[in-house]
Amino acid sequence: MNIHEHQAKEIFRKYGVPTPKGFVAFKPENAVKAAQQLGGDLDVWVVKAQIHAGGRGKAGGVKLARSTEEVGMFAKELLGKTLVTHQTGPEGKTVHRIYIEEGAEIEKEFYLGMVLDRASEKPVMMASTEGGMEIEEVAAKTPEKIIKVEIDPAIGFQGFHGRKLAFGLGLSKDQVNKFISFAQALYHVYMDYDANLIEINPLIRTKDKKFVALDAKMGFDDNALYRQPEILAMRDLTEEEPTEIEAGKYGLSYIKLDGNVGCMVNGAGLAMATMDIIKHEGGQPANFLDVGGGASAETVAKGFEIILRDPNVKAIFVNIFGGIVRCDRVANGILEATKLTKVDVPVVVRLDGTNAEEASEILNNSGIENIISANDLKDGAKKVVSAAKGGK
Ligand code: GDP
Ligand code: MN
Repeated sequence: MNIHEHQAKEIFRKYGVPTPKGFVAFKPENAVKAAQQLGGDLDVWVVKAQIHAGGRGKAGGVKLARSTEEVGMFAKELLGKTLVTHQTGPEGKTVHRIYIEEGAEIEKEFYLGMVLDRASEKPVMMASTEGGMEIEEVAAKTPEKIIKVEIDPAIGFQGFHGRKLAFGLGLSKDQVNKFISFAQALYHVYMDYDANLIEINPLIRTKDKKFVALDAKMGFDDNALYRQPEILAMRDLTEEEPTEIEAGKYGLSYIKLDGNVGCMVNGAGLAMATMDIIKHEGGQPANFLDVGGGASAETVAKGFEIILRDPNVKAIFVNIFGGIVRCDRVANGILEATKLTKVDVPVVVRLDGTNAEEASEILNNSGIENIISANDLKDGAKKVVSAAKGGK
């Protein structure tokens, strides 16, 4: 789960990580009030679109206002606007809230981030002098400009971690300790909230030599949310794919993609293999869908309904291995689904495992025309890709 910049900054403040003062607003008039509250005599206010995606600066989602009236103008412009950044995809994201901040006087921009490194099985803190740039680009072109420290959670953040980062950034003596306190506080935020990502880009040094988090991005381990009620309360459903939320309610893991071949599979591994083989046969999957090991008629029916909500879907590939679930039950689920939802695209079915023969019989005797049976995975993938292209 992700949260908004203004929420991450709220958490930062609790831990003594310096951020500019700011207020969130959902309406232009509240944006103006926020600006007045911050101080009507400021030189600069910053109006920032709050969406769960970076790259807002380049896309016109971060505005510097010179007066409270200008704050109001920018607020009107941004609220309700669809912002397209390199992280949103071409459809963009609608701005429902903005953040009004006091402007900062930037002397230098840095990058500071923390992620879980699965290879070392430890959280890693990363810093760079190349702040404000896309860190992926820095990593690709000048990896030596990113300084990394692995932190063993058993010993926690130590002075030597901080010094390695601070010296790597070339900070002067008087700044090293300030930076280390900042980094240490950030480590505690990461650990206490079960985060799996924190990114401050840019972390700035102001003209009066203070370190301030100018941007803040946080992501969390979904499996830990049960013990993070404060984070769960920050969830913004408007940032999530509605069909993915609905699928979650029925215990289905559904991720929407851009292709036209709908996939209904049991087990995450088989679901990924299915997507691979569809691509191998020249098709594009429209989704990832794991109906779970114990797929029932109801979940299969729900799965069809969710897949078919995507207007791009031209054919569906049901690829289910009957291990825990019996194939005849899945076959009945498919019949059930065709009664509940109008399935008007070809459905290629490959059922294997327990009671596979009974399942074929059920489907063959069903009288449903759209169903094409497949002998195996490869055969199924070929048939569904061709069906999606309008062939037989
Ligand atoms: P992102 O593009 O989504 O990562 O949004 P950021 O919060 O990083 O803002 C983009 C850029 O706007 C930053 O890299 C800064 O250069 C600039 N910016 C943000 N806040 C201020 C501010 O208070 N003063 C000044 N001068 N620039 C700012
Ligand atoms: Mn940023």
